[in-house]
Amino acid sequence: METLPCQGCKGLCCGPVPITEKEYKRIHKKIKSMPRKIREALENQPRFFGTCMFYDLHKDQCGIHSVRPEICRNFGYHKDLVCFRKPELATKEKVTPTERPIGHLSIDFTWKNF
Ligand code: SF4
Repeated sequence: METLPCQGCKGLCCGPVPITEKEYKRIHKKIKSMPRKIREALENQPRFFGTCMFYDLHKDQCGIHSVRPEICRNFGYHKDLVCFRKPELATKEKVTPTERPIGHLSIDFTWKNF
């Protein structure tokens, strides 16, 4: 499958994303298992206003990639989640969420919740 041109984008698509209870728990576990230095370094990175709190600007990638929420996995491939750098990849039908979100990362859930 063709992939998105994420490199160099600096997380432009990574804003406050909705998360479900299950996703919250998964991310929580991942953050707790990170070595303290790495966790603190990620937490204290300067970010653009509105950029997701887990975006790793230094590495130019998601800082919690293996446990990123469903919406982040779907981004770029669905008609309602288009990447402006490669809109032709958004061919799948609109996403139908299976579970209700409990809030948004960076707004309802901040680093103190993890
Ligand atoms: S969890 Fe990762 S992929 Fe999702 S918005 Fe945040 S930085 Fe981006």
